[in-house]
Parts: sequence; structure tokens; C-alpha cells
Amino acid sequence: MRIALIAHDKKKDEMVKFVYKYQDILAKHNIFTTGTTGLRIMENTNLKVNRLKSGPLGGDQEIGAMVANEQLDMVIFLRDPLTAQAHEPDINALLRLCDVYQIPLATNTKTAEYFIKEI
Ligand code: PGA
Repeated sequence: MRIALIAHDKKKDEMVKFVYKYQDILAKHNIFTTGTTGLRIMENTNLKVNRLKSGPLGGDQEIGAMVANEQLDMVIFLRDPLTAQAHEPDINALLRLCDVYQIPLATNTKTAEYFIKEI
């Protein structure tokens, strides 16, 4: 599967823990990340990822374009629901496209764990 992993700043530790716990499963798949999320994952786990631009600099839009071009099968996006983001329109566009293209989208770790056990 082609899986995107994205985490807002306050959720990056949670993403690293998630990847560390499930890296054996994730390693069997093609992983795409936004810039800083991918950097943190590679610094702290053995998972190899394809890094796109940082979210606020267009990374969420790049992931959105992959969804629109049917190049992704799943998106795990650990959003920070308590902090306003400068690139909120990009985030909403990505979430919307996941629904347009029926792409499984997890926005918190519990949901992501359900997904990861299904792949
Ligand atoms: P980042 O982007 O991984 O480059 O921090 C995530 C986001 O804020 O959308």
C-alpha cells in the first residue's frame, strides 16, 4: 500500500511512537510524509520514507495531489485539534480530497491503530 504519514508539531512525538511501534508493518509498504514529519521519523526509527515538502510550505497540497491522482491508498494525519495552523486551508483541502476519493483517513492514533491492523 501507499501510505501518507503527516503530524502537526504537537503530534510529532506521538507519530514517532506510533511508527516505532508499528515499523515492521509499515516497512512492508510505501511511505510518503511531509517534510518535518518524515525527518523526525527517520531520525528516530529505521523506517525509510519518501519525504515531500513541509506541510506549511505545500507538503499537504502535494499529498492532496497524490490523493487526487490516485497515488495513495491511506492517509494517517495526526492533526493538532487545539492549535490554529497557518495552512488550515491546505489541511482542509487534503481532508476533503480523501473523502472525494474514498481514501481511508485516520486523524488520531487510535484510528490509525485500527487501520494498521487491517493492512
Ligand atoms: P511537517 O508538516 O511534517 O513538515 O511539519 C505537517 C503539517 O503541518 O501539515
